Amino acid sequence: MSGIRLDRYSRIVIKIGSSLLIDESGKTDTRWLESLAIDVARLHAAGADVLIVSSGAIAIGSVSLGIDRRRARLGELQAAASAGQMLLVNAWTAALARHGVVTAQVLLTPDDTENRRRFLNARSTFAELLKRRVVPVVNENDTVATDEIRYGDNDRLAARVAQLVMADVLVLLSDVDGLYDRDPRGSPDARHIPEVTTINESIESIAGETRTATGSGGMATKVEAARIATRAGCSTIITLGTGEQPLAALDAGGRSTLFRAAGTPAAQRKQWLAGILSVAGKVVIDSGAAAALARGSSLLPVGVVRVEGDFDRGDVVSIVVEAGQEIGRGLVEYSLADAACLAGARSNEIEARLGYRGRTALVHRDELVLFQHE
Ligand code: GLU
Repeated sequence: MSGIRLDRYSRIVIKIGSSLLIDESGKTDTRWLESLAIDVARLHAAGADVLIVSSGAIAIGSVSLGIDRRRARLGELQAAASAGQMLLVNAWTAALARHGVVTAQVLLTPDDTENRRRFLNARSTFAELLKRRVVPVVNENDTVATDEIRYGDNDRLAARVAQLVMADVLVLLSDVDGLYDRDPRGSPDARHIPEVTTINESIESIAGETRTATGSGGMATKVEAARIATRAGCSTIITLGTGEQPLAALDAGGRSTLFRAAGTPAAQRKQWLAGILSVAGKVVIDSGAAAALARGSSLLPVGVVRVEGDFDRGDVVSIVVEAGQEIGRGLVEYSLADAACLAGARSNEIEARLGYRGRTALVHRDELVLFQHE
């Protein structure tokens, strides 16, 4: 028995590779997809937030446009992705709607997760969707991503999404049931590794030598995804996705490799924030706001006395009480000019002061770390 129970997790990212979704004729394998939708709906009904990172746009679109994927130019692949993404998302929407689950499409490029300003935009969209119990269906925005600026494989994209939404588990559905000490395709006596506590050189070299049958990823990108996710406090599971209801199979004791996360997503996010050395400015707050922060609230404009420095949305600012002591740091939601304009504003005055509908928080509580003072 693997001992893995997905219902222990509260925010789950599931990554599905093209090879699982597409049948021999290049069409969406509806039967398999509907079986996975049963798994997703069960976790969702039990209260978990579920996000799907689904590949398959290029594979499906190549069939409808008559493009030979293996010989296609980048532009042709992008056209295929554009046609295929519609069909892919429709398939997910239909399969989950049968269970009363609403879906939404999110297309991302690396910039959206690596650049802190765009990271905040993407994070707030996901937060709103999850609050409304929607299952986001995510893919790379292949029509604008070019070779130099793409994730290229959805393993890494899924790990970045897991980090962005502070998921506590990432499940990579694959055509193998986990990591082996040697490539199982060449060595029948290869031993399965049920759990990896540290991703060290030996794990990397095993992964580097192990190819998966299809898909752009292979084992190396899965291990790289596990590294990104576990550092962000999100455990990662590689398991077999080829059979029907693969998540139920995992819960029933199906083989997998678990990469256990160090710490929780919230603790890891705060550690990352605390480690950022360059602070772009200062937000001076009143004692009411300081007390609210200590209770776990976000920093709202109403508690801001003044701002200093030169910062943009997504920069790290230092949060200082009027007496001058720095009490914490966080990613700021507004530029210096907008933050200055908002100082002291109640939430219902934000739009009138800015001239556009802004965000409620100046620093969101997920992007805030408070220092412990004796
Ligand atoms: N974004 C690509 C697609 O939807 C897949 C990338 C990958 O293979 O992981 O076809």
